[in-house]
Amino acid sequence: MQRRTKIVATLGPATDRAGVLEGIIKAGVNVVRLNFSHGTHEDHIKRVNAVREISDRLNIKVGILSDLQGPKIRIEKFVDGSVILEEGATFILDSQYDDNAGTAERVGIAYKELVNDVKPQDILLLDDGKIVVEVTAVKGSEVHTKVNIGGVLSNRKGINLQGGGLSAPALTDKDKEDLICAANFQTDYVAVSFPRNGSDMDEARALLEKAGSKAHLVAKIERIEAVTNIDEIILASDAIMVARGDLAVEIGDSKLMGAQKRMIMRARELNRAVITATQMMESMIENSSPTRAEVMDVSNAVLDGTDAVMLSAESAAGKYPVETVKAMAEICIGAESEQFSVLTPNAFIKDRKFNYTDEAIAMSAMVLANHYDVQALVCLTESGTTALLMSRVTSEIPIYGLTRHSETAGRMTLYRGVKPIEFSVHHANEEDVVGEVMHVLKEHKAVKSGDRIIITRGSLNFVQGGTNNLRIAVVE
Ligand code: PGA
Ligand code: MN
Repeated sequence: MQRRTKIVATLGPATDRAGVLEGIIKAGVNVVRLNFSHGTHEDHIKRVNAVREISDRLNIKVGILSDLQGPKIRIEKFVDGSVILEEGATFILDSQYDDNAGTAERVGIAYKELVNDVKPQDILLLDDGKIVVEVTAVKGSEVHTKVNIGGVLSNRKGINLQGGGLSAPALTDKDKEDLICAANFQTDYVAVSFPRNGSDMDEARALLEKAGSKAHLVAKIERIEAVTNIDEIILASDAIMVARGDLAVEIGDSKLMGAQKRMIMRARELNRAVITATQMMESMIENSSPTRAEVMDVSNAVLDGTDAVMLSAESAAGKYPVETVKAMAEICIGAESEQFSVLTPNAFIKDRKFNYTDEAIAMSAMVLANHYDVQALVCLTESGTTALLMSRVTSEIPIYGLTRHSETAGRMTLYRGVKPIEFSVHHANEEDVVGEVMHVLKEHKAVKSGDRIIITRGSLNFVQGGTNNLRIAVVE
């Protein structure tokens, strides 16, 4: 059985160990994530080259996602590396304090604007919410707080404001440099951390275009503001990430389930891809098998309709990256074989009005895929849009995205149920094109004699958005 849900795996020291990168790619990684919060440009370039070498040798297309760090909303350092905060104590966050001189009474902050963003009674969550402090006063450069939930606090931990509202812009100077680095190694996707609205995404898009990149954009939804502005962010992006780590801290655990389900559904409705991220297989950082809760979490994301599930430290810094990918792949296949999904064409297409010819053709193909005896969907695509549109709807048959552009193949690695194949049509005549398509599919062992397949294409080759043709053909 072919897996439809894609796996995104973060690279790091664990995948730098001999044989591990090849191991995770063979085990089913579709997209690798370069985390620009760690490592130098050289580190990332080395990893990209290693991925491309393996991908070419094994003939497995692997997408590349470059994840920008975003604003550092953090405390600075302590004299002793960490302190213990006692419940009820006073703790001062001071934007003018020495970066290395933190104590249990006072610490510096990397995010200097904090003083302008908070007021008494605001709740600040430190270290992903492990420490909770309440603002009692703002005096000059100092934010005075009372510790509500204490514990150990160590260097450079994150600060979140409960309910959102920190004003930091999404793209820092470092992000802008990193974005150019990613554009230069021809990344397929760039992920923007902590965007607040559609214009944060527009800004990233403009910078990419200026750098000569056609990379697609992923908005990481991890702020309250992003949840509030979800439609405009989705429409300004090519994909979203349900970034559950920071998101849960901001909105609270009790809101996470609903947020994930709504965002996945909304991304699909608006014809965008969606990644579900963070702590999916967390215990496998240390253990060789997942917990039952993790098995269920990955399964449920698959049922929700996510395009991809993501690994962070599990693959980047864990003890069992290859085992983790294998386990995740099996869980996905198991969940896909169940019939709980709500993304059938009847549910998805229901009252939709189609706005474009390619959308009308793609949706027609999905009705046929679900209501007629068909073994494969094939789209000849310039930009990958037809494959994306098809993959918004559930079916049990594979979607082969045939494209002459390597960058289009790269972006299709993320789309659920889509297998990218790089291939150029040589003929113009329709019968000859069908013959060519049959040939390449047979080469990939994608079809056999007697299979009925659907082929979509533009009657004028090489025109983006030009899909206007649906053909049913039987493999000879
Ligand atoms: P991060 O993003 O791992 O870059 O923080 C994902 C998340 O917040 O869940
Ligand atoms: Mn995050």
